[in-house]
Amino acid sequence: MKISQAVQDVLEVVPDHVTVVAAAKHRTPAEIEEAIGAGIRHIGQNYVQEAEDLRRAVKTEAVWHLIGHLQRNKARRALASCDWIDSIDSLRLARRVEAIAADMDRVVPVLVEINSGREANKTGFLPEDVEEAVRKMVDLPHIQVKGVMTMGPRFGNPEDSRPYFVETRRVFERLGAAQLAHVRMEILSMGMSNSYRVAIEEGANMVRLGTVLFGARPA
Ligand SMILES: *Cc1c(COP(=O)(O)O)cnc(C)c1O
Repeated sequence: MKISQAVQDVLEVVPDHVTVVAAAKHRTPAEIEEAIGAGIRHIGQNYVQEAEDLRRAVKTEAVWHLIGHLQRNKARRALASCDWIDSIDSLRLARRVEAIAADMDRVVPVLVEINSGREANKTGFLPEDVEEAVRKMVDLPHIQVKGVMTMGPRFGNPEDSRPYFVETRRVFERLGAAQLAHVRMEILSMGMSNSYRVAIEEGANMVRLGTVLFGARPA
C-alpha cells in the first residue's frame, strides 16, 4: 500500500486527541516526506545518526522525537537533531540531558520510559521506581517532564499487551495526582502497529506506528 494511503487510513480511525508518531527507523527521506504530506506531524527516530541524517534531508516541518534508547555520550547530538526525548530511562540520562539543554539555553520536553514488562533486556524504570525518579527530575529546570512512554513486551495477540498498558496508565495517573512542580502529566505514549487500538482503549494519547504506516521494515 502507498504510505500516503496508509497514513490517511490510520488518521481516520485514530481519535483526534491521539497524536500519531511515525516510527521511521530505517526509512528514507522520501518516505518520511510522503508521510508528512499525508498528515503526519510527529516523527520518531531510534538512532541518533539516522536522526541527524534524516533531519538534514527532510525539508518539511515536523516535530522530531527520539524514541530509542539514548546513550549519554550521544545526548548532545540527540538534542541537536530531536525536539523531544521520549526515552528517558535513567536519572543519569535525565541529568545529562539537563546539562546539555542548559548549555543550549533550551527547555526540552521529555517522556519517562517505563519498563512495564519488567524485561531484563529492556531499559526504563520499573513501575514502582518511576515516581521517586520523577521527583528528582523536578530539580532539573531544562527538562520538562510531559508524560510517560512504554514499549511493553511484543506479542502476536495485542490483547496480551493490555495488562502492561493498564499498569502504565496507573503510573501515569499516579504521577499526575502527585502534582509535582514543573511536571505536567499530559502524554501517555504506548501502542505500536499491532497494539495501538488496545493502547488507545487503555488511555494512550500518543501512539508510535511504524509498520502499519510504512510497510514491513527493510532488513
Ligand atoms: C519501531 C518502534 C515502534 C513501531 O513499531 P511498529 O511495530 O513497526 O509499529 C514504536 N516504538 C519504538 C520505540 C520503536 O522502536
